[in-house]
Amino acid sequence: MGTARHLLGTDALAVEDATALLDRADAMLVTWAGSPEARKGTLLRGRTVVNLFFEASTRTRTSFEIAGKRLGADVVNVSAAASSVTKGETLLDTVRNLEAMRAEVIILRHPASGAPSFVAARTGASVVNAGDGTHEHPTQALLDALTIRRKKGRLAGIVVAICGDILHSRVARSNAILLTKLGATVRFCGPRTMMPREPRAIADVQLARSLDEAAEGADVLMMLRIQNERLGGAMLSTTREYSRTFGLNARVLARAKPDAIIMHPGPINRGVELDTMLADSARSVILDQVEAGVAVRAAVLEMVTRAA
Ligand code: ASP
Repeated sequence: MGTARHLLGTDALAVEDATALLDRADAMLVTWAGSPEARKGTLLRGRTVVNLFFEASTRTRTSFEIAGKRLGADVVNVSAAASSVTKGETLLDTVRNLEAMRAEVIILRHPASGAPSFVAARTGASVVNAGDGTHEHPTQALLDALTIRRKKGRLAGIVVAICGDILHSRVARSNAILLTKLGATVRFCGPRTMMPREPRAIADVQLARSLDEAAEGADVLMMLRIQNERLGGAMLSTTREYSRTFGLNARVLARAKPDAIIMHPGPINRGVELDTMLADSARSVILDQVEAGVAVRAAVLEMVTRAA
């Protein structure tokens, strides 16, 4: 089992720790498939976990909450919109107050890249990055890796095409770093205006010039939402034009391996980056990703509290 007190990104995550987290999460999924009683543990009894979210979230916040509760922890949700942050309180003061209430784990989502590392250096609590700006979303990458491993039986040699708004996507960054570390081949594809200037500074990725090229022989097609909230008002093309060029449809899917799977971190913008029929098709593993997310987050909570 992993040994780190914080989980700030995939960059600093050792391959052994990542593999241990995936193994543990996999075992939890098997256990949880049993009776409802099997989904109620006691390992974190008496521990307090705070979900501190400064950005919108459905899946990440809820799955951290369910994960904490499955391990017996007390889980508290603090949303910035309803907190004293609106009265001018700083991030650090907010965290120190939570710490004074004996919060042992702080799950932080923040629009500023680097916010979790900043906090981790200044608190006694364990900090888990639940998405920081355009930087990282490590538990998303872990749950994606687990989903691929469960569907394909391995990660080594698997070809994963990540398509869309790569520039603004913390999901793309974390996945590129983690999946290449674990032996997969990652291809990036997106409009030129949504590609990082130096994609290979993120990880050793392949660059595809079109969605067709990215899909060719791929095992996994991971589609991304345009991060409108991070574009600063600069829309790049019409939605219709975008979906025609970079939206996944049956014609493009036919270029991938016959058993290729479709992934999406959510929220989906149906009909934009992903054809709505494909989103609901047997090839889509989007809800498997969500299920894996609870287990991965429980494994992360176990790791950080064990190391604390
Ligand atoms: N839910 C993911 C994130 O928070 C992806 C997205 O919002 O598009 O980064």
